[in-house]
Amino acid sequence: QDVVNKIAAGEIIVAPVHALKELIENAVDAGSTGLEIVIKDGGLKLLQITDNGSGIDREDLAILCERFTTSKLKAFEDLTSIGTYGFRGEALASISHIAHLSVTTKTNGSSCAWRAHYGDGKLVPSKPGQTAEPKPIAGRQGTQITVEDLFYNVPSRRRAFRSASEEYAKILDLVGRYAVHCAGVSFTCKKHGDSNMGITVPANASTVDRIRQVHGSGVANELIQFKASNDRWGFKSDGWVSNANYSVKRTALLLFINHRSVESSNIKKAVEQTYATFLPKGGHPFIYLSLEIDPHRVDVNVHPTKREVNFLNEDEIIEIICDEIRTSLGKVDT
Ligand code: ADP
Ligand code: MG
Repeated sequence: QDVVNKIAAGEIIVAPVHALKELIENAVDAGSTGLEIVIKDGGLKLLQITDNGSGIDREDLAILCERFTTSKLKAFEDLTSIGTYGFRGEALASISHIAHLSVTTKTNGSSCAWRAHYGDGKLVPSKPGQTAEPKPIAGRQGTQITVEDLFYNVPSRRRAFRSASEEYAKILDLVGRYAVHCAGVSFTCKKHGDSNMGITVPANASTVDRIRQVHGSGVANELIQFKASNDRWGFKSDGWVSNANYSVKRTALLLFINHRSVESSNIKKAVEQTYATFLPKGGHPFIYLSLEIDPHRVDVNVHPTKREVNFLNEDEIIEIICDEIRTSLGKVDT
């Protein structure tokens, strides 16, 4: 059974960035307003994320890494909406099958923090000879998740990684997306033992300032906002796009659907075409787009390496959004 679990986990988590995405989403779901991320060897040696969210109850620690353990299924409705995002209480379980996982957590009501270690879905001792029970320690409210030696038991996968800096670049790209999107949340991301921050975004930064922190003033100074919504198709959206004074070599699309970072080649193609009409000599947009759609209309195809999303009335919705982009771009003198 462990072998099956290990294989299944390795299919979903192909690179460190996939594990980190789940951990970031968990921290945000827990109502955190601050996330600190530390990475070693591109995440293969260490992925550590510290949040200041709700924390996890002591009683829930024993089953935390069992499959289908989730605090997010309050109604059938929730099941369908969370279900669209691939995991249903499977992320921590999966990670525990292919890495050494430890959790330090404190809820508001608890007088101390608790630390627990996991392997293959279960509590394990931190050192041989000790008990597997969680240990009380001092700590602040929130949760720290430490993932060490990812793929330690999947040598073929481990060997597939050529460079830590490539993996770190993917991690910065992902953290940068959430840092732009999550208003009211501070983010830091750095390499272990390095005093330089890869990413720093304060909690109170505006969206434009978030983009400035992550992508620089060059683009942040040339952004225009667009909003679109339609009751019939059950969506609303908010976004920023670079005006025709600032184009990039390859389209940068920061896309969120219902607050999850996803991919959509249809949206990408459409916004590229819309943008191209403003740039006769070529060039591509930088675009941040947050789309909220009735979750029942969204379908996420969980492919190991990409999360391609489709939704009902896609053509109509994309058309409305692109109209707004066209109108906004048309108002800017270039
Ligand atoms: P899911 O997010 O689908 O519920 P996960 O395996 O990602 O499944 O997490 C399992 C459960 O662990 C969550 O439902 C949540 O209750 C708890 N949890 C995980 N990470 C955190 C965190 N950072 N803060 C608070 N609770 C957490
Ligand atoms: Mg989760």
